[in-house]
Amino acid sequence: MFLGQKSYIVIAKINCKMRFASRLKEVGESATFRYSTLAKKNNVINLTIGRTNFDTPSVIKETAKKAIDGGKVHYTPTKGIPELRECIAKKLERENNIQNLDSENILISTGAKQIIFEAVMSIIQKRDIVAIPDPSWVSYESIVKLAEGTVRWIPLKAENGFIPDEDFFSILENSNPRLIFINSPNNPTGAVYPEKIIRTIVDIAERKNAFILSDEIYEKIIYEGKHFSPGSVYENTITVNGFSKEFSMTGWRLGYAASQNREIIDRMNLIQSQTVSCAVSFVQHGAIAAFTADARRDVKKMVEELKERRDYTMERMKNINAVLIKPSGAFYVFPFFGEIDDLKFADRLMENGIGVIPGSPFGSSGRGCVRMSYGAVGMGDLKRAMDIIEKIV
Ligand code: PLP
Repeated sequence: MFLGQKSYIVIAKINCKMRFASRLKEVGESATFRYSTLAKKNNVINLTIGRTNFDTPSVIKETAKKAIDGGKVHYTPTKGIPELRECIAKKLERENNIQNLDSENILISTGAKQIIFEAVMSIIQKRDIVAIPDPSWVSYESIVKLAEGTVRWIPLKAENGFIPDEDFFSILENSNPRLIFINSPNNPTGAVYPEKIIRTIVDIAERKNAFILSDEIYEKIIYEGKHFSPGSVYENTITVNGFSKEFSMTGWRLGYAASQNREIIDRMNLIQSQTVSCAVSFVQHGAIAAFTADARRDVKKMVEELKERRDYTMERMKNINAVLIKPSGAFYVFPFFGEIDDLKFADRLMENGIGVIPGSPFGSSGRGCVRMSYGAVGMGDLKRAMDIIEKIV
């Protein structure tokens, strides 16, 4: 005990003189994780969570259990097991119209976040410009900073439902990006970009010789409108998707990338081989069952229930003084409350029993907004939360 204490003191002293890499200087803890932890600690109605409260489809769980019992406990190929990569390639051809993919064009990893990290690290070097729609999921900016790239935020407007418009396109065109992020359906806004908008972004990317990273993790959580993958019309697209949201598998850590441009996949694979090695073997085997009718039925039920929550939230928001265009996908609303300090507003809601994420960590266009997730709350809690917000606003 005593020795342990002594060595602790010595380590503390040495640490004072240690130098750390400067690339971490501007990278903060994820705001969504920070507010989620606070909400759990304060035991409030939790609208911070970036997942649903549904269980993983049982067919996936059973298949993964069988894989463990069947000895699927060793390293897999770096890109992932061929059976799962083939399922993914076929899915992308069938559902997303991304042709000419074979299993070598697919890379499986430990979550979409790791995949995005590998893509950015493969493309971006010091001061390269990465265009990110503002607001966007908090981790894009941090990952670009880790790669020492330069983030160019491209503003979106609440009154357009955060869908890109002419101003967005002209700022994007003039930003000369090496890489453009698209995330539809969107976190935090819930916006689903129409095909025409995505095609305009593709035209700009083609003219500028830029890669597109299309984060399609909420693809199957759409209530109106149709999903469109830029990878179907532009070969320099990295299509990113995963199992976290669609199949309620956030803790399994499984995501993937696909591109008709094999070179980018191979470079990302190189990073993977020198970092995580591969995704977990029995998790990959379990995920093959995600392509069955049983799993799809569970997802359909989940989306129906999420739509009820979205509709209820929209109905209640009518009586609240905020700008909110109905989001067509994901499980978030991102209302704009005017010229308020969203950080203080989120604190105030927390004091009154509701956890939300303030809008400004998602980018400066998120100022005055808060992100409310209806993914992991039942109708009773959602009603109580809306009662409180109505009273406060
Ligand atoms: N992309 C977006 C837009 C997200 O919201 C999230 C998680 O919240 C991810 C990627 C990360 O997903 P994964 O759990 O597969 O790493």
